[in-house]
Amino acid sequence: MQDIDTVVIGGGQAGLALSRSLTDRDVDHVVLERGRLGERWRSERWDSLRLLTPRWQSRLPGFSYRGSDPDGYMSRAEVVEYLEAYAASFDPPLRTGVTVTSVRASSGGFTVETDEGGWRARNVVIATGDCHQPFVPPFATELADDVLQVVPTRYKNPERLPPGGVLVVGASSTGLQLAHEIHASGRPVTLSVARHSRLPRTYRGRDIMAWLDEMGVFSERAEEVSDLASSRSQPSLQLVGTEDRRTMDLGTAMEAGIRLVGRAESAAGKIVRFGDNLVEDIVAADVKLVRLRQRIDDHIARSAWADSVPGVPPIEMIEAPDAPSSLDLARAGIRTVLWATGFTRSYPWLHVPVLDARGEVRHEGGVTDWPGLYVMGLRFLRRRNSSFIDGQARDAEEIADHLTASRRVASAAVA
Ligand SMILES: Cc1cc2nc3c(=O)[nH]c(=O)nc-3n(C[C@H](O)[C@H](O)[C@H](O)COP(=O)(O)OP(=O)(O)OC[C@H]3O[C@@H](n4cnc5c(N)ncnc54)[C@H](O)[C@@H]3O)c2cc1C
Repeated sequence: MQDIDTVVIGGGQAGLALSRSLTDRDVDHVVLERGRLGERWRSERWDSLRLLTPRWQSRLPGFSYRGSDPDGYMSRAEVVEYLEAYAASFDPPLRTGVTVTSVRASSGGFTVETDEGGWRARNVVIATGDCHQPFVPPFATELADDVLQVVPTRYKNPERLPPGGVLVVGASSTGLQLAHEIHASGRPVTLSVARHSRLPRTYRGRDIMAWLDEMGVFSERAEEVSDLASSRSQPSLQLVGTEDRRTMDLGTAMEAGIRLVGRAESAAGKIVRFGDNLVEDIVAADVKLVRLRQRIDDHIARSAWADSVPGVPPIEMIEAPDAPSSLDLARAGIRTVLWATGFTRSYPWLHVPVLDARGEVRHEGGVTDWPGLYVMGLRFLRRRNSSFIDGQARDAEEIADHLTASRRVASAAVA
C-alpha cells in the first residue's frame, strides 16, 4: 500500500486535464490507466473517424492546438498525438497498464486496489469516460444467432463486415456517419431513426461550432439550464469532420440511397419492428434547427460586423419517407445490425454508496456527496461541453480548486 493525496482513475483527456490542474496546485497524485494514454482513441474508434469539433476547439488546461490548420478536424491518430504532446508538456504521474479493481472508503479517505498493488488516498477522481461502453437495447438478444451484431467500439471499417445489407440503429453522429460509410462501400444500408439533432456543418460563412462557441452555448453551466436531466440526455449532434466540410443529415442519407425506418422497438429472430416516430422526430429536429438558426441570426444582427456576414441561406426541410413498420432481415438481405444507440457507464469496482438506481454516479458538478470522491468528463457535468475535449479546462480547474479547498478545511480541522 502506498500513500498519496489523490488517485485519478483514467488516462484520457479528463484524467490528464485534471492531472495538469493538480500539478499546478502541488497536489501529490497519480493517474492510473488500464491501457495506454488516450486508450479509447487508439482502440475503440473506427479507422476513418475525425473529430466533429474543429482543431481549435481542443483547449486543455495550459495547452491548445498550435498547428497550421485550426479549422480542420483531427483524425483519431492525431487526437492520440495531441494527448501525448499534452502529457509531454507537464509530465503527469501517469501509470499505464494498471487497472483499478476496487475503491472502498477507509479511515482518512479511500483504499484503491489495482492489479499492481494498492493505494491509500485522501481523494479519488473517477475519469473513466462518459462513453464507457456501448448501450445495446435489451431486445437485441432476441435476434437470430446468425445475424452479426456490432457495436461502434468494435467496428473498424466496412471491409471487415460480411457482404450483404446492414441495419444501422441510431441516427446521431456515430450512426449517421457509419451508415454513409458502409453504404458507400456497396452494402445497402437501412438506418433506424429516433430522436436526433440536425445541424449544418457551416452556416453563414463559418463552422457552426465557431458560432456556438462565440455565443457561449458550450460554456452554458448546468445550473443555467431549466431541465438538466433532459439536457444530459440530448442526442449527439449530426455532424462529421471532413475536408470538404460537408453536412451530413437524413437528407444526405436519403440522397445517397440509404433507406430510413423508425425507431427499432423489438426483435424476434429475423424480424425487427420499428416505431411510427419518423415524421415526428424529423419535424422536431427541423424545428429545433430553425430555432437555433434564429439564435445565430440574432447574434449576428447584434454584432458590429453583421454587414460582412453572408446572408441567411434557405432551409431545406427534410421530408420523411414512407417507412415499413417491420423488416424481415433475411428477405431484405441484411446480415449485420450495427447498434449506434449511445453509451452507458458501469463502475463494478466502486464500493462507495454514490450510485443511483440506474448505476450512474450521483454528483453535483462532479462533486459526489461522499467527501473526497469526484467524477470528471461526464455529459453536462458542469457545462454543456463537459464531455468534450474542449470542456476539460474549466472543469478540471474548478474540481482541482474544490479538492484543494476541501483539503485545507480538513487540515485546519485536524490542527
Ligand atoms: C465516437 C466518438 C466521437 C467523439 N468525437 C468527439 C469530438 O469530435 N470532439 C470532442 O471534443 N469529443 C468527442 N467525443 C467525446 C469525448 O471527447 C470522448 O468520449 C473522450 O474519449 C472522453 O475522454 P475521457 O478522458 O473523459 O474518457 P476516456 O477517453 O473514455 O478515458 C477514460 C479512460 O479510463 C480508463 N479506464 C476505464 N476503467 C478503468 C479502470 N478500472 N482502471 C483504470 N483505467 C480505467 C480507460 O481505459 C480510458 O482510457 C467523441 C466520443 C465518441 C465515442
